[in-house]
Amino acid sequence: MAHHHALVIPYPAQGHVIPLMELSFFLLRKGFKVSFLNTEFNHHRILSAMADEAKNRVQLTEEEEPESAEEIRLIAMPDGLAPGEDRNDLGRLTEALAAVMPEYLEDLLRNGDFTCVVADLNMAWSLEMAKKAGLRTAAFWPAAATLLAAMTCIPKLIEDEVIGEDGRLKRKGRIEIRPGMYPIDTAHLCWNCFADAFTRRTIFNLAVDSFRSAKSFTEIIVSNSSGELEKPVFAFAPFISPIGPLLRSEGKKRLGHFWPQDNSCFSWLDRQPPNSVVYVAFGSFAVFNSCQYRELALGLELAGLPFLWAVRSDSSSGGISYPAGFLERIGDRGRTVEWAPQQRVLGHPAIACFVSHCGWNSTMEGVRNGVPFLCWPYFADQFINERYICDDWKIGMKLVADDNGIISREEISSKVKKLVGDEKITANSVELMEKVERSIGKGGSSYENLSKFVEAMKRV
Ligand code: UDP
Repeated sequence: MAHHHALVIPYPAQGHVIPLMELSFFLLRKGFKVSFLNTEFNHHRILSAMADEAKNRVQLTEEEEPESAEEIRLIAMPDGLAPGEDRNDLGRLTEALAAVMPEYLEDLLRNGDFTCVVADLNMAWSLEMAKKAGLRTAAFWPAAATLLAAMTCIPKLIEDEVIGEDGRLKRKGRIEIRPGMYPIDTAHLCWNCFADAFTRRTIFNLAVDSFRSAKSFTEIIVSNSSGELEKPVFAFAPFISPIGPLLRSEGKKRLGHFWPQDNSCFSWLDRQPPNSVVYVAFGSFAVFNSCQYRELALGLELAGLPFLWAVRSDSSSGGISYPAGFLERIGDRGRTVEWAPQQRVLGHPAIACFVSHCGWNSTMEGVRNGVPFLCWPYFADQFINERYICDDWKIGMKLVADDNGIISREEISSKVKKLVGDEKITANSVELMEKVERSIGKGGSSYENLSKFVEAMKRV
């Protein structure tokens, strides 16, 4: 049998590592050897999260045992930032990666026995290197395909004076990239959500360069989406091949999380009535001020439903502090965990709805489990995803901020209650889940595209 060895390269952020790890496990099952390249910083976080989980393994049933790490070889490289520098500063991080990693990668490619490289489109410079080394290459796009389609139109946006040569917004409002495609608010083009000029320019340049490299140096561009979710986009941009949504397959694998997953919530979830629990989580990046945190806690209290809330310790600018007496008043009605086993939580029959920041992975995970959304986008493409959820797929509602930019406890409580009682949205969520499930199943479009991707990576 021919030897196939994939080197998988994510952009070093949690929402990029998780779906590429799912794809890695898929390649593994298709007979590939897989090496997964993290930055040293993330590598240590993942190992330490795994060690913590192993310590608590007593909480796990056999079915939940983590897959052994040896199956996928985890390798690491410096990211170019000094210890203690802020890895959430995406401008600095992106610039440092491109300055430092190519030299290490060149070495790795020279000394490894790789046959193909699958890289995040945001790391597209690595695809050029892999191509030059004679390897098969694929670019992976972890967000909405509509955003990638918009990036392909950057020259036209500059020509139409919607943006300047440096990506700066010249014209505010909605743009229709193609009739029939969902309009995008120009403020939601990913580089425009950064306030400082350096980060905006760096992310804009990344968008321009990435797509150019991906087109020139890859066999295939795959996206973690489904033809059922973004049909007009794939008609307009047939070079993007939807292969998702990728989910943790066969209920076991969970390599690649930066925080240890707290499984203690399952015994609590098992005690809750079906369709009763509000699941609240904002991904790996979003940060709220303490005033907003307080309103969220009080909103959940006021709603009167059981809730499971993922509260990262770094998710509040003022530190996490709940309103006085909150935890005592809530008692067993609510649970907080630092990092939830989200995909399994969303598949639990007790979950009624998902209060979400609408990151693309969270969106896909909610969709695949037929869970209605209460949308609380924080930045970047999350606003585009919110529009999909509420206006196009009609599987959720928006939370609206007051004049001070705060989403009040009354707004949270009333929308939670409204959403949970909304039969139409619930039915739409189930219908969309079934459609998407069919596209992933044998003979479906995502299934076929995934097979083509594997074939392209196996070709010699
Ligand atoms: N996630 C998780 N536990 C949590 C919160 C998030 O496992 O408590 C996972 C979630 O399932 C998703 C990823 O982290 O796969 C977050 O990606 P997303 O694109 O939704 O948001 P980002 O972190 O990029 O803002």
